[in-house]
Amino acid sequence: MTTDLAAFAQEKGVKYFMISFTDLFGGQRAKLVPAQAIADMQEDGAGFAGFATWLDLTPAHPDMLAVPDPSSVIQLPWKPEVAWVAADCVMEGEDVAQAPRNVLRRLIKEAADEGLHVKTGIEAEFFLLTPDGEEISDPFDTAEKPCYDQQAVMRRYDVVREICDYMLELGWGPYQNDHEDANGQFEMNWEFDDALSTADKHSFFKFMTKSVAEKHGYRATFMPKPVEGLTGNGCHAHISVWDAAGKDARTNVFAADKGEGQIAELGLSEQGGWFLGGIMKHASALAAITNPTVNSYKRINAPRTMSGATWAPNTVTWTGNNRTHMVRVPGPGRFELRLPDGAVNPYLLQAVIIAAGLSGIRSKADPGPRHDIDMYAEGHTITDAPKLPLNMLDALRFYDKDDGLKAMMGEEFSDAYLKMKEQEWNSFVNHFSRWEKDNTLDI
Ligand code: ADP
Ligand code: MG
Ligand code: MG
Repeated sequence: MTTDLAAFAQEKGVKYFMISFTDLFGGQRAKLVPAQAIADMQEDGAGFAGFATWLDLTPAHPDMLAVPDPSSVIQLPWKPEVAWVAADCVMEGEDVAQAPRNVLRRLIKEAADEGLHVKTGIEAEFFLLTPDGEEISDPFDTAEKPCYDQQAVMRRYDVVREICDYMLELGWGPYQNDHEDANGQFEMNWEFDDALSTADKHSFFKFMTKSVAEKHGYRATFMPKPVEGLTGNGCHAHISVWDAAGKDARTNVFAADKGEGQIAELGLSEQGGWFLGGIMKHASALAAITNPTVNSYKRINAPRTMSGATWAPNTVTWTGNNRTHMVRVPGPGRFELRLPDGAVNPYLLQAVIIAAGLSGIRSKADPGPRHDIDMYAEGHTITDAPKLPLNMLDALRFYDKDDGLKAMMGEEFSDAYLKMKEQEWNSFVNHFSRWEKDNTLDI
């Protein structure tokens, strides 16, 4: 693990460091710092005017310092003279409480204090579009059921292979790449890791995918529903909890021998069931984080897409190995949260999973009944499960009402997030849309 960035630069021939932090809206912000200046920056941090980013800071606040976490450093495989390093936001010697990576670090510590170490793997789907973002980059990618399309994935082999090669080089353990369920959509999978590492990798993956796509003359987008009528970009999270972090982990505390009962039958432990209970209990509120944009709700509440399914949930239900529910337990010792979408903030995704899951373990939350049905065909028969929020405002209101989740995420974070997101919603509703004219001009 790297601890001295100046030595890293010398050893690897790095000329510039990209000191990067992520704001509340998921924007990655960076300063390019020459290697010569990195030793001081590693100690003091790089200075930013916080107000200029989405962190709910004012112009009167003192300088915010982004202090690089050297354990996260990655030499850009496509531009080896530059290295990216995730940074933690500090102001006057204190962590900025609402900064997403700080929220996550605090929750990881809280869980670790109780002997719990969350590990997750994410599936960050994306589309390759033309540079103006208007069309799917491949004009021949028009099949009605394009999932796993062999010919179409090979037409974008140069992009997919380049990204996968880089993940191999970085030691992420990538293991499969495919064309996904929408025309122009792809998924690349790598191995699960500690929540903070997965969040850093998730951020870097987005940066890398966009950069490689640009290099090839395309535009990569993780937007939840970038093309009307086609399946959207999900960002499923697979979750388990271990006895220790990193390579010291020996026991998956979510795993149990199969026994009797709706949880044990699936090879999930009692603690796994409670963690799941926490996710179920807070689901409608945590959607404000996992599905953070106006566009997110075009995926959640989507009518069936051209391929015949939406692959996105609209009700708070869980089940065994069945992809029509919000939570799927694909096998023993882990579960998959299928709610998050491509707009999710990589740090807040991990943070809200830990926040909801930890509160579930503490309160021994019951996940409720398992529903072993096809939700697309029979979802209407379920009357005992809450519906997910219908739009971003609905989600923000659910979040605001969930005092338990707000406290776990931190009051400063929750206040700042709600304030920034409400402003965003107001900006959206103030926008005069074509739909209004088309539908109400003659009323
Ligand atoms: P699917 O498409 O079937 O949902 P993928 O293979 O695309 O699954 O992604 C599965 C993700 O789950 C990968 O990132 C994988 O490393 C991760 N994963 C597997 N086992 C665990 C586990 N025990 N805990 C957390 N994540 C896991
Ligand atoms: Mg997958
Ligand atoms: Mg999945």
